[in-house]
Amino acid sequence: MRKKLIAANWKMYKTPDQARDFFRDILPLVHGHDRDEIVVCPTYLCLDAAVAAAKGSNVAIGAQNLHWEKEGAFTGEVNAAMLLAAGVTHVIIGHSERRQYFGETDDTVNLKLKSALEAGLVPIVCVGEVLEEREAGLTDDVLRRQCLRAFHKVSAKKAVRLVVAYEPVWAIGTGKTATPQMAADAHAIIRAQAAESFGQEFADKLRILYGGSVKPENAHALMSEEEIDGALVGGASLDPKSFAAIVKY
Ligand code: PEP
Repeated sequence: MRKKLIAANWKMYKTPDQARDFFRDILPLVHGHDRDEIVVCPTYLCLDAAVAAAKGSNVAIGAQNLHWEKEGAFTGEVNAAMLLAAGVTHVIIGHSERRQYFGETDDTVNLKLKSALEAGLVPIVCVGEVLEEREAGLTDDVLRRQCLRAFHKVSAKKAVRLVVAYEPVWAIGTGKTATPQMAADAHAIIRAQAAESFGQEFADKLRILYGGSVKPENAHALMSEEEIDGALVGGASLDPKSFAAIVKY
């Protein structure tokens, strides 16, 4: 049995005060919930407030990005050691918005993955096709290529904490959700690629999350699919009641 992981991606929303308010409201709602792992990924600026607010609770804190270098002249960047020092345990890598707007590539995803694993963070690597690729029947190829290149020269032993998020780009922030069957099919492709890269035993244990307009209303159907091991939630994670309802699907 793979324990499901429900992760919130706050994107560029909330100030530290708003982050504190969120934790004040959500912690009582998810108190004692241990069926699933819960992670909240705020902006860098809110990490301190979030780590302090979630201390001693069942909610872990993740970042939305990292740089792969240990240190250096990389203005505006933050590395794995800095995240760990701030009390962060998880990190999202290769989100489609970073690929689309900030030039992130399969190669930088690979560098970031290696650096997160080396540091002991739990990486949540995002993959997913755009609408034109799906319509052209290329979903399988795209997912396999993104995984293959993300996993390049990463050993199964090193990758033990790896989590993958399948996020069809056409479903992110659009209100369009992949049907549970579409998501399950895509997850099976990702799992097959993980089996080729790391071996079947590893692939059987790999958690693959679904992301793309997950809401309280569709969370149960999605999470009931055996292939779906959790959710990466954007818009609906900003409101404590809505995110708690997803956690409790
Ligand atoms: C996301 O940002 O990872 C995401 C899935 O967004 P939304 O839930 O808003 O579609």
